[in-house]
Amino acid sequence: MLGLMQEWPLTVDKIIDHAKTNFPRREVVTRSTEGPITRSNYAAVWENAKRATNAFRARGVASGDRVGTLAWTTDRHMEIWYGAMNMGAVLHTVNPRLFPEQIAWIINHAEDKILFLDTTFIPIVEKIAPLLKTVTTFVLLSDRAQAPAGAIPHFVAYDAFLHGHSTDAAWGGFDEHTAAGLCYTSGTTGDPKGVLYSHRSNVLHAMMANQTDGFGCGAQDAVMPIAPMFHANAWAITFVAPMCGAKLVMPGPKLDGANLYELIEGEGVTFIAGVPTVQLALLNHVRDNGLKFSTLRRVAIGGSAIPEAVLRAYEDDYGVEVIHAWGMTEMSPIGTFGKPHPEHVKLGHDDRIKAKLKQGRAPFGVELKITDDDGNLKPHDGKAFGRLMVRGPAVARAYFKNAGAKNDKGECLEPCGFFDTGDVATIDELGVMQITDRAKDVIKSGGEWISSIDIENIAMGADGVACAAVIGVYHPKWDERPLLIVEPKSGAHPTRERMLAVLDGKIAKWWMPDDVVFVEKIPLGATGKINKLALREMFKNYQLPTTQAAE
Ligand code: AMP
Repeated sequence: MLGLMQEWPLTVDKIIDHAKTNFPRREVVTRSTEGPITRSNYAAVWENAKRATNAFRARGVASGDRVGTLAWTTDRHMEIWYGAMNMGAVLHTVNPRLFPEQIAWIINHAEDKILFLDTTFIPIVEKIAPLLKTVTTFVLLSDRAQAPAGAIPHFVAYDAFLHGHSTDAAWGGFDEHTAAGLCYTSGTTGDPKGVLYSHRSNVLHAMMANQTDGFGCGAQDAVMPIAPMFHANAWAITFVAPMCGAKLVMPGPKLDGANLYELIEGEGVTFIAGVPTVQLALLNHVRDNGLKFSTLRRVAIGGSAIPEAVLRAYEDDYGVEVIHAWGMTEMSPIGTFGKPHPEHVKLGHDDRIKAKLKQGRAPFGVELKITDDDGNLKPHDGKAFGRLMVRGPAVARAYFKNAGAKNDKGECLEPCGFFDTGDVATIDELGVMQITDRAKDVIKSGGEWISSIDIENIAMGADGVACAAVIGVYHPKWDERPLLIVEPKSGAHPTRERMLAVLDGKIAKWWMPDDVVFVEKIPLGATGKINKLALREMFKNYQLPTTQAAE
């Protein structure tokens, strides 16, 4: 027997319709690519999204066609985003931090018809335009008056793109499983793979991400996604904010501490979300200038593990609650939140901080398990490591065009129907998950696994350290041994002895790095994470001092 409730397909046009109906004057504030702060609201975003839909249709974009963006987090980006998705086209956010050749490969693979770009990315597009096989129109996300003449052949300025189009356009009316967005993984190994979100997955994911024990945002909040729209949908915040009526503050291209701080204070921001590297830049700015946060209440940090120093600075020094988040592009991206479990409330301060450094619990809508290499379940005892597997309505089932298929249905799933995240983790009795490594970054020493993340977190908190990374280096007796790589803060001179002393007693003796090296800059990848591949390449012939003794 079927239930007798209404059909109401979960499509994202309903999100911006809801904001326009219920919060039309709620502001959408942007640090524009040109520099000045611009002010819009949900009614105006809705109107321009309608115009964009009509402009797409006039230029022959049909349901299922892909529209690419090389763009910062701005109101204009949001207008095209809803304008394309709401008519059944697919909004493809391209990560501009990838190499130009990779960007061209991705756009060709996605077969984008139109490419929107911020003026920042003109040099990239000038370089790759001759390689692009499917793009017929380039739209510069600026007004005609600001567009540099002759920069890109046949480009259209954004105001000209929208000009003359009405705000009367049909949205929705299709299956909720229709594709809405496309985002490629960063492709550190092999070609990038396209994750194709559906309307239903985006709507469910936004509701899931904004539960009280998640982002927990409401109409009183002013939220600022520092995680860019090209990095897994700005962690769903461009859906969450209009859904709950929060003011939306978009930082555009300026993601440095001073500019972020100015927006937070100037716009009364209460909630921000971004990777540890941008948080560190913001905290350094605040500390170095003797400032404080007057409105900021909560900060979601994810993308890589939170360094303890960042967690303590927010919570102990500035009274801002930290919500640790773990996830990945393939999960839309939220997988877990580190909000305290009722059992944690009883803990003393230091133990609560320790608990918060773990990646956290799965919200409703995500299932987690850990297994060995043969798919056998590992116990949830907080000690056993295993491959972290996930399942849920906002987790990828297959990649675009069946890339990386693991079965004859083209799916990227294990035989048990779960997706293998490529992370290695423990899960404790309370369901709290802790990442111990990426499967490919785990250091395999004498048949045992050493977690690079644990060592990095401790090293990152040491005096004078700006960034730290641990990689496995060849060792004749143990296969691999850990090498600690440290980027000192400017003007600081941490020593090998000091770094090892900081780790002493905090990790198992056999996890102690065999050596410490200092570099000017630890390379970061396209999503702001430590680029271990580049580090492994840099140190591939490195001779550990313990090597000779073993030979
Ligand atoms: P991406 O798809 O680029 O967002 O990368 C996803 C990967 O980032 C995950 O599989 C993890 O390895 C890593 N990651 C994301 N969040 C965290 C976190 N809070 N702690 C540790 N690693 C994380």
